[in-house]
Amino acid sequence: MDELEGGIRRITLPLPTRPGHVHTYLLPGDDGWTLVDTGVGLPDAKETWAAALEEAGSRVATIFVTHFHPDHVGAAADLHELTGAPVYQGVLDYAQCELVWGNPAWSERLLDWFHLHGTPDDVTAELVGQSSVYRPFIRYQRDPILVEAGEHVDGWELVAAPGHADGQLCLLKDDVLVAADHLLGRITPTVGLWPASRADPLGDYLTALDRTIALAPRVALPGHGDVIDDPTARARQLQEHHRLRLEETVAALGPDGRTGYELSFDLFGSKLQPAGRRFAVAETLSHAERLVHEGAALRHEDGGTVTYTAA
Ligand SMILES: [Zn+2]
Repeated sequence: MDELEGGIRRITLPLPTRPGHVHTYLLPGDDGWTLVDTGVGLPDAKETWAAALEEAGSRVATIFVTHFHPDHVGAAADLHELTGAPVYQGVLDYAQCELVWGNPAWSERLLDWFHLHGTPDDVTAELVGQSSVYRPFIRYQRDPILVEAGEHVDGWELVAAPGHADGQLCLLKDDVLVAADHLLGRITPTVGLWPASRADPLGDYLTALDRTIALAPRVALPGHGDVIDDPTARARQLQEHHRLRLEETVAALGPDGRTGYELSFDLFGSKLQPAGRRFAVAETLSHAERLVHEGAALRHEDGGTVTYTAA
């Protein structure tokens, strides 16, 4: 456990996959801690948390989930059972959480979706199979208290941060942004297009970064990696990264239709493990869709396959 400014504590939990850890935060409040994010619901999650919270002292008054990805939502139900504290989660984020983790047909839907974007049959099963490794370790809290951007939880303002996840919410108080995976220091947060995601996640993300720049927090506490001492500069870097990637995407488009799967080789190379390819395809598609929204590319759907051409 690390002690940060303003009495905030950071508890870092191991992750079985990259980046190998996730940060959770204890924010001090009048009635006890507001605990932000929960780690994966590994079989020993309750024991791990019981030990960590004993060290932290004081009780947990509120549990807040920033977004529904496994490393953030996974142990929410465990923590609710352990502490009795209510779980807060964004309206849109909880809807997507149920759609993905509460829905046995989700893998089938992902399979269809990768097919639609040109992934060959033999590869599709491998990509989607790998995506369910976390499924047994997601114990999200059913019927949480639903909140939206602009509301406050224990004095912290909720700030919409779509892109990495459509319904992701950050928390802001005294110029400290608890940033979840909206801003990461050395890693570029993935921004992918997924089935049932909003139409233009990268457009959402670039706008959300503009909002971060306007808010100009002094410091950002990310879900992974070091504390970010200049969030505005980091937000600008991430915008620049995507601007360059959009240029690469335009350069890879021509008069003949190309699928998201094909384009992902231009943008991310050919040496990726299945999990890497899964994110590469989703990320390629978020860029292609941004270009469609800008009028710089065209999307075609023909015979059950989506392709993109230069506009
Ligand atoms: Zn994360």
